[in-house]
Amino acid sequence: MVDETKEITFALSKGRIFDETLPILRLVGMEPIENFTESRKLIIDTRMLNTKIVLIRATDVPTYVKYGAADFGIAGKDVLIEQGADGLYQPLDLGIAKCRMVVAASVEFDYEKAVKLGSRILVATKYPKIARSHFAAKGVHVNIIKLYGSMELAPLVGLSDVIVDLVSTGATLKANNLIEVEDIMPISARLVVNRTALTTKGSLLKPILKSVEDIVSGGSL
Ligand code: ATP
Ligand code: MG
Repeated sequence: MVDETKEITFALSKGRIFDETLPILRLVGMEPIENFTESRKLIIDTRMLNTKIVLIRATDVPTYVKYGAADFGIAGKDVLIEQGADGLYQPLDLGIAKCRMVVAASVEFDYEKAVKLGSRILVATKYPKIARSHFAAKGVHVNIIKLYGSMELAPLVGLSDVIVDLVSTGATLKANNLIEVEDIMPISARLVVNRTALTTKGSLLKPILKSVEDIVSGGSL
């Protein structure tokens, strides 16, 4: 029987976080032993003894780590703020998957004027909590429409006046005739750790966390 306390599970999402984490995993010696995309497996062993990776949706990472189904993982600051990060230990900003949370509008929509006039602004977003607190702090009245993807479409078809979304290069906004009208906050990916695991599996977990920290702070990426 496998002694659970001697195993480490790392939660990671496919896509850009995975791509940008791979170089770190290589340096830590925790590289997956199989190609995820080819194998379609959701649990994969790594080169480090008794250490495996579970591949899940980016928005599910905090949940797996919070309940201890994974001992640690990587989650975007956007996800951590939107869902709340109660009970999660966040020791490190990895400085990867960098982007910004912004308000964007169609080039035809006069955002400044709408704000000045005190109009109620329609906001489409995957991030209702972040959007609500941003506009509340500015004293702007909004109706929030929750979406699950392709936010850029909403202003183009009249579903909303503006969107609150992540941008990096701005190419997607530009391609859809949208412009950034307000910067909300910078976003990057963070290490999140289960607090109990830090105690019960500390002898295995802490050296890995230390190694990640050294790699990130040493600029060896
Ligand atoms: P999907 O795009 O498949 O619906 P998702 O949006 O949850 O899923 P990703 O697009 O891979 O997954 O985003 C995961 C994380 O990467 C986000 O939570 C965010 O922290 C970061 N991210 C998102 N968009 C960008 C971007 N344009 N540039 C850099 N990092 C980003
Ligand atoms: Mg995405």
